[in-house]
Amino acid sequence: MSVVELAVDQLPQERKLVTDLPGPKSVELMARKEAAVSTAVGNLMPVFAQKINGGVVLDIDGNSLIDLGSGIAVTTVGSSAPRVVEAVQQQVAEFTHTCFMVTPYEPYVAVAEALNRLTPGTFDKRTALFNSGAEAVENAVKIARAATGKTAVVAFDHGYHGRTNLTMGLTSKNVPYKDGFGPFAPEIYRAPMSYPLRDGLSGPEAAARAITTVESQIGANNLAAMIIEPIQGEGGFIEPAPGFLPALLAWCRENDVIFIADEIQTGFARTGAMFACENEGIEPDLIVTAKGIAGGLPLAAVTGRADVMNSPKAGGLGGTYGGNPIACAAALATIKTYEQDNLVERAREVETVAKGRLQLWADTDPRVGQIRGRGAMIAVELVEPATGKPDAKLTSSIASYCRARGVIVLSCGTFGNVLRFLPPLSIPNELLLEGLAEVEAGARANA
Ligand SMILES: *Cc1c(COP(=O)(O)O)cnc(C)c1O
Repeated sequence: MSVVELAVDQLPQERKLVTDLPGPKSVELMARKEAAVSTAVGNLMPVFAQKINGGVVLDIDGNSLIDLGSGIAVTTVGSSAPRVVEAVQQQVAEFTHTCFMVTPYEPYVAVAEALNRLTPGTFDKRTALFNSGAEAVENAVKIARAATGKTAVVAFDHGYHGRTNLTMGLTSKNVPYKDGFGPFAPEIYRAPMSYPLRDGLSGPEAAARAITTVESQIGANNLAAMIIEPIQGEGGFIEPAPGFLPALLAWCRENDVIFIADEIQTGFARTGAMFACENEGIEPDLIVTAKGIAGGLPLAAVTGRADVMNSPKAGGLGGTYGGNPIACAAALATIKTYEQDNLVERAREVETVAKGRLQLWADTDPRVGQIRGRGAMIAVELVEPATGKPDAKLTSSIASYCRARGVIVLSCGTFGNVLRFLPPLSIPNELLLEGLAEVEAGARANA
């Protein structure tokens, strides 16, 4: 069994509520937030954080909550993970910024070397670093256009790629991501995704359907890139049927189309492999990473085939902060943690524990349409038993029930009917089980 190194001043790994949620200090701070911050920036829970580690979030009123979200799949190694804290403290005292394009520094190069080594693909690779997932996706598209001399990009139903103008266009769901924010960038197209629960197609059948859409509506001669999440995150933890991704990749290779895997949510041990693409042995031309890369510091990357990565003109990629030295130091410590603490194995263990517990619930509740996902990226799709229709109301009722009782539960899905569990790998199994038991209790309370 793998063991995650824990902070010296580890919080007691328990759920403990000392006030109603939100507590009085959070209520007071929320009034300040509402007077100072745009209402467009929402909060899942009106509870302010004070300290986080292991599987526990301590709030400013002294309540200890169970973390089943990792700040949306970011703090996979835990928040304030010891190696990350130490690396950041050292780097911040040396220098905080130079701009890599002005005066380069070693940690940036070391992160690129680590990503070239760790990502799928036996070919020669190069990497470029950015600040956020969306910024990296934008750059992957720029690189693909430079490499192919073509312009069109195809994304998939239920896909999520970010909130900037180009990535909003690539994102499928309207509310809240796109509504009222157009016009969107041109030359973005959408193909049908493989969604086994809802389409019943095999991977090759679903791929043939997607390719027909691409060939009839875009044309390979216009298509620079196909971008896809190997397991869709925001869209509902949709795992395409086996064979779907390999067939798409093969088609891309035959047609000079750059295959971009958006592993921003699935990357870095999250799915029980270092990268989710490994599950079917595919080697994308470009892989985009962020979220789990740096233990919570903002960093993102595009890694891929050297010939593709080197195709933009010199100076064509960059940015003031991209690959910030503190974020790079954190990434190196985070990557070391994945490797030395064997967190890939830990993620598989989380899958066994979580799916085992959720199955007990599913066995007696026909509203559980499907349990799916891999590693520490597990979802439950909730449906109306008679019709199989998505049950968004039940989903939000369960999530609210859990949050009121100190369990941080996220939902997702185009139809809002998927509970998603993304615990940090530093969570003790008992706490994970306690959190999931509360989810089942929430379902029973909403029978
Ligand atoms: C979160 C996410 C993004 C966007 O990343 P940001 O850092 O929020 O810009 C893009 N793609 C996927 C799959 C994501 O989960």
